[in-house]
Amino acid sequence: MARITLQQVAHSYQRHPKDPSDYALKNIDTVWEDGGAYALLGPSGCGKTTMLNIISGLLTPTRGRVLYDDRDVTELPPEQRNIAQVFQFPVLYDTMSVFDNLAFPLRNRGLDPQTIHRRVQEVAEVLDLTADLKKKAAGLSADAKQKISLGRGLVREDVAAILFDEPLTVIDPHLKWHLRRKLKEIHEKLQLTLIYVTHDQVEALTFADKVLVMYEGEMVQMGTPAELFEEPRHKFVGYFIGSPGMNFIPCRLEGNRAVCDGASVVLDEETVRRAQGKEGPFELGIRPMYLEVHDEPGDDRIPVQVRKVEDQGIFRILTVQMASSTLKVRISEERPLPGQEAWIRFPRRWIKLYANGRLVA
Ligand code: ADP
Ligand code: MG
Repeated sequence: MARITLQQVAHSYQRHPKDPSDYALKNIDTVWEDGGAYALLGPSGCGKTTMLNIISGLLTPTRGRVLYDDRDVTELPPEQRNIAQVFQFPVLYDTMSVFDNLAFPLRNRGLDPQTIHRRVQEVAEVLDLTADLKKKAAGLSADAKQKISLGRGLVREDVAAILFDEPLTVIDPHLKWHLRRKLKEIHEKLQLTLIYVTHDQVEALTFADKVLVMYEGEMVQMGTPAELFEEPRHKFVGYFIGSPGMNFIPCRLEGNRAVCDGASVVLDEETVRRAQGKEGPFELGIRPMYLEVHDEPGDDRIPVQVRKVEDQGIFRILTVQMASSTLKVRISEERPLPGQEAWIRFPRRWIKLYANGRLVA
């Protein structure tokens, strides 16, 4: 196992990159601690696979360094990095048996038959593949093939880290949940460094201790699921995490107030102080669950029109119109539904201020 550090890593697939938009990865500085369970989360095309391939050595970055512990491995090929990587689509030998597929990475490294047998059995057990060990891989379902692919990633005990690139994409939803649990169990037992790439927030938040959120080739925040939820450092994190995501309302600052069209909200002193000298545009951010809904006007209450009500089991999501802003509000199913005219309140402690997309903090 190893601690993996990326130092000012940037990557462009173009031969002569000129401006920032020519880079698939822009100046990434991050440390993956030894034994951590990480998720790399972001929309399609944001650079997740590029980052993973730089960590494994399939790609050499245009700029920057990759360290395993204190060793510079930037120029080393994957074979010399001791990494296991599981790809989005199964990579296996169709003509070989399931056993031989799982044994392949171990035979490759010259392990003795007894050790190989033991490890293959263990991994097959974890992935419920024991009954299939003698079958040829070719005849198996897409799910089973991807499980074999996962197994090939998990079979070696001597790796620096295991990298998963959206490994459950082709797996049906129920089995997906089961396999994610299995991966988490394996992590807890073996304390391997795991980096799990996904574009699915639920997958990231349930699997990882820490999540790295990426957006357009940049690392926008690394944090625990709770930190990403409570303290999104970038607008994109607020919007991407949570369902529905955070509300953002354009505003301008006047003294200790944020003035939006239709509303004026008092900010705490600390926020006001930190906003001084910052360049806008400014926006207020608040999670749908933290907005209060009232049936009558009152102090700090802002009139809204209720446009839509969606049932989500124990919650309801209201879509409300506040002057020209459309907001989402989450209420418990026990609360009587407000009428078409309602009032909302922004509790001060839950208001975040964003300047040019970044948290003022
Ligand atoms: P993700 O895995 O998050 O979907 P990728 O790392 O695959 O994103 O891609 C990041 C960006 O780099 C995208 O704009 C993609 O089109 C581009 N890209 C990826 N691979 C290549 C390649 N081999 N050649 C040129 N551009 C690429
Ligand atoms: Mg990808």
